[in-house]
Amino acid sequence: MKHRQIGILLALLAGITQVWVAEPVMAQAAKASSGKAKVSPVAPRKQQVQAIVDDAYSKFKGDTRGKNADYIPVLAQVNSNLFGIAVVSTDNQVVTAGDVKTAFSIQSIAKVFSLALAMEEQGADKVFEKIGSEPTGRAFNSPVAVVDMPTHTANPLVNAGAIATVSLISGKSPEEKWSKILGFYSRVAGEKLTLIDEVYKSEAATNTGNKALSYLLAKYDRIYSDPFQSVDVYTKECSVGVTALQLAKMGATLANNGMNPATGQQVVKRDNVAEILSSMMMAGLYDGSGGWAWKVGLPAKSGVGGGLVAVMPGKGAIAVFAPPLDEAGNSVKGQEVIQYVANRLDLNLFSPASVGLK
Ligand code: GLN
Repeated sequence: MKHRQIGILLALLAGITQVWVAEPVMAQAAKASSGKAKVSPVAPRKQQVQAIVDDAYSKFKGDTRGKNADYIPVLAQVNSNLFGIAVVSTDNQVVTAGDVKTAFSIQSIAKVFSLALAMEEQGADKVFEKIGSEPTGRAFNSPVAVVDMPTHTANPLVNAGAIATVSLISGKSPEEKWSKILGFYSRVAGEKLTLIDEVYKSEAATNTGNKALSYLLAKYDRIYSDPFQSVDVYTKECSVGVTALQLAKMGATLANNGMNPATGQQVVKRDNVAEILSSMMMAGLYDGSGGWAWKVGLPAKSGVGGGLVAVMPGKGAIAVFAPPLDEAGNSVKGQEVIQYVANRLDLNLFSPASVGLK
């Protein structure tokens, strides 16, 4: 090993040691609050996070930019002022502000967990071959991307790739597939989740674009069971209700190597976590993903219901619910809040400061 490399290694170790010695306070807090979770050597401390989250909440509460999604009619009626922030650490510390117990439709964030389920069944290599992980640089529902992209499916986090991912999940009938998906999401959250029927009906009545995508995929042999049935199961998964707090728990499960920090259940295969997070990094905010990586540097996923969750690997997850969206379909306040918290806590994965090297 060269001197320079040894130097870097020592500096990294010094950074980690600093984090370790800073932890005893959090250690006690985590034990007291859960009794189950092991204390994380890297998760930030609850008190510090609460202060930052409170700052973010008051700083962005009055931000009125963006607009609710309205191509799914019922989403236009959701109160645009709802605003909640939740952080859950890998050692199950919970920090919240605002409307964290209001259920909203998970929408595209569901795609992350269907990807996890498909990988669980088929393995990472098969899913990569059948779906891929290339960003499209186009809108999340773009038929042009299906035609243009060499893989056609592009990645599991745009509509076409997500519908194809659903088509990969096994099940004797669409009903069996759907109940498997809902059960899986619930285990990831550590709580029973349910369908918001109103959202499902509203989207099912207006999803001609997704049906067109599924047929286009069929043309290229890139959908692996019945196209319209796959769209229907996909529409249901997008209509699952979650709160910001539940979403943070789902993100924290990914951050915690696939083990839900509250239930202690290993629900996502440990081996698949890095690939899932990498696909979130590439495409989690659609054609806003490059700007997001540049400014924030955390894998994240948005949904047109106004949810946004970012994963801090090893540390936890931050989820925001705020319905008004930007042009790409990402929550405006959600992006602001997570960027603010990530900056204050040095979370950007591409920055050596994220492991304590200042
Ligand atoms: N259900 C939505 C759709 O198919 C999900 C899109 C999203 O959240 N970006 O259009």
